[in-house]
Amino acid sequence: MLHDLRLLQALPAAVLVTQAGAIRFANAASMELLEAPSIDSLIGRMSGDFVHPMDQVRSTNRIQAVAVPEQGGRPNKSSEFRIRTVRGNLRMVLISSVAMEWDGAPAVLMCGMDMTHQSEIEAQLRESEQNFRRLFDNMQDVYYRTDALGIVQHVGPGVRRVLGYEPHEIEGRTAESYYPHSADRDAFKVAIMDKGEVSDFPGQMVRRDGTVIDISISSHALYDHAGNFGGVEGVYRDVTQRKNLERELQRLATTDMLTGMANRRAFLECAEAVYERSRSNGEPLTLLMLDLDHFKSINDRFGHLEGDRALVEFAQAVKSQLRASDAVGRLGGEEFGVLLPLTALAEGMEVATRIMNSIRALQLTDDAANPYRITSSLGMGAFRQSDRSLRDMLDRADQALYLAKRRGRDQIASLDPVDE
Ligand code: GH3
Ligand code: MG
Ligand code: MG
Repeated sequence: MLHDLRLLQALPAAVLVTQAGAIRFANAASMELLEAPSIDSLIGRMSGDFVHPMDQVRSTNRIQAVAVPEQGGRPNKSSEFRIRTVRGNLRMVLISSVAMEWDGAPAVLMCGMDMTHQSEIEAQLRESEQNFRRLFDNMQDVYYRTDALGIVQHVGPGVRRVLGYEPHEIEGRTAESYYPHSADRDAFKVAIMDKGEVSDFPGQMVRRDGTVIDISISSHALYDHAGNFGGVEGVYRDVTQRKNLERELQRLATTDMLTGMANRRAFLECAEAVYERSRSNGEPLTLLMLDLDHFKSINDRFGHLEGDRALVEFAQAVKSQLRASDAVGRLGGEEFGVLLPLTALAEGMEVATRIMNSIRALQLTDDAANPYRITSSLGMGAFRQSDRSLRDMLDRADQALYLAKRRGRDQIASLDPVDE
């Protein structure tokens, strides 16, 4: 018999004393747990009535077990039971019991803690963890985290698909190992240290099989409590397909489909850049403008399709005489531009002459195997420091071309003195 019940009354855990299964004592916490209207309403009721039918056998066995002398007065191990409250609500309760005496007769003291809430939280945690795992394992992006030295600490399973490595093969190595261009990685580091985060940052990586892929990184810098840089965390994704598409669109937008040369817009854009360089460095620059002679009559004689074929041959002949650093483009129907950087007019004249000769040397034949020849007029323009813009230089080359036409075609003309 416990002489002072005040302690049990005040315990936050539910406490019941039963004799032959009937409740003799209940504290306020057990009243709350069982949702009873009062403590008195619990006295005399069978404790087993509150146990979920599925747990009743187990509960009875345990209560009987504590009563046997071999137990030596030790409480049994806590175990969870489903309890049905007076109001019919189900609760999960962690119960421990111990044999005792109550009013001189054997009794059982039970102590219960409501775990309903805990198990709910646990279930929620488990579910959210499962959701996270599913997402993490299936996401197209590769999650990664590096330490302050750039060593990969953690990488998601997406890396198998994107780089062809197992995560453990990547972890412990520096991220640099997978960059084909260290400049890419340096640019990324500068950006992340500067802004603390990057979004859709471009770069390339090498897969296990050696293929280079385009990636896009979105990451943020990690800092410790003292504000020191601790590494980087983020995701990267394979954007090769998107980049290929972009490159293809770019190519289509800048290429002349018939000749494969730069189109007018791309040529002028490039010319603008080269012109600006000459302007700031005072480097020589020569521009050639070519227009096929009497090309209308080629179309008239052999048909438009044959005219197209002649244009392709013509373009090949021009290109065959150029250096990799020279730029060539189709400015219009049968008009072409050539830009010779770092080339003064005299040297440009040599290139122009070679081009003219290679055009004259073209041996073309129509559908019926009839041979025919084409010629072109060529106007030259040299860079002048006094020009206001590229336009002035283009105009001079254009006027020179017109001059070559007027002088009888199949020749070179220049408004600038060639032997300067
Ligand atoms: P000129 O010596 O004065 O330059 O005479 P031309 O006949 O070449 O000059 P003009 O500008 O009068 O005509 C250019 C012709 O080029 C007109 C057009 O039929 C032809 N042409 C333009 N673009 C193409 C093309 O893509 N394919 C073909 N087959 N012909 C084209
Ligand atoms: Mg023409
Ligand atoms: Mg023309």
